[in-house]
Amino acid sequence: MRPTGPLDRVAGAHDAAVLAVARRGEPVARAGLADALQVTPQAISKILSRLSDRGLMEEAGTVSWGPGKPTTLYRIVPSSRRAIGLHLSRSRVHGVVADLTGAVVARHEVPITPGDEPAQLLGLLTGAARELARAGDGELLGLGLGMPGPVDSSAGRPRGAARSDPWHDVPLRDLLVEELRMPVLLDHDSRAALVGESWSQPGLLENAALVLAEDGLGASLRLDGTMVRGAHSQAGEVGHTVVQLGGVPCPCGRRGCAQAEYRAALDRGDDALAAEVLAAVVLNLVRLLDVDRVVLGGRSMYAHHAASMDAVRRALAEGLHGESWVHVEVMLSTRGVDLIAAGAACEVLEHEYGLPTALVGPSPE
Ligand SMILES: [Zn+2]
Repeated sequence: MRPTGPLDRVAGAHDAAVLAVARRGEPVARAGLADALQVTPQAISKILSRLSDRGLMEEAGTVSWGPGKPTTLYRIVPSSRRAIGLHLSRSRVHGVVADLTGAVVARHEVPITPGDEPAQLLGLLTGAARELARAGDGELLGLGLGMPGPVDSSAGRPRGAARSDPWHDVPLRDLLVEELRMPVLLDHDSRAALVGESWSQPGLLENAALVLAEDGLGASLRLDGTMVRGAHSQAGEVGHTVVQLGGVPCPCGRRGCAQAEYRAALDRGDDALAAEVLAAVVLNLVRLLDVDRVVLGGRSMYAHHAASMDAVRRALAEGLHGESWVHVEVMLSTRGVDLIAAGAACEVLEHEYGLPTALVGPSPE
């Protein structure tokens, strides 16, 4: 399944840490890396030469900080590797190619016709993947697919909320592997999105929630630097937590679920109430999990982003007003509609080159 060979765990942790520092964009020097990683400059030299031999990093000139030998700088080589990311939603397949830094270098989108069966949708997914495989430079590592939950990423199958869901228990990952002959990762859309955000901003989102408003409303969580999956790969399903007892019926069978209330408010044109529901969800997450960053994203979020950001910030200010030591930053994803597709591609990159402590699940096969 692995085209490049895994980094071994011990060397891998340090190699991955150097790559994470380099992903921030500035050229790096041996001494600075040795300080940051608390290892000897000789060890850093070995790591840099190993990463350079694999084409992941390269020399980036020299700099003189005084008398003596000039210092060699190194930088990441974005075009050395690439991964395909696909986002499957109800209306379209949105795909990207991301380079080693997670930057999007190509896009491809195909609409979905309502009523398409899994066999037809599989054809759309493989067609988009083949189109994207031709774009960008560097070794192609594999394909990540983000889709609405529930998704069992270790089994590589969507678990439809209803058994009538056409995707329920379809072995989607294995079907894609068979068709495309490349490694495939399957994940919940909001989790893919958060992996992508943290891949491109190493170290920033160590205790964070990403709240996604697409067709549904969901969240993903990264706590103490590790993605949270839960016993059934369902952690973060905030859309089905109740915010209004006896409220609007939800397809899950309960009443007053956040997702049902949010959609009902938007359908009535009551954007302010929808933003209030969202804000309640975010404050509940902050209270429950003590995250210090909340990323908001998704097509529905972008369509109402000003009202949403205002309501969330207000709710946090009111909800945490007695706790001046608690700071929570709320941000809108910078990736726009690429959020999930780019995140799915970054999950492949993270699987190959991420810090072992941040590995997000068992290796496929
Ligand atoms: Zn529900």
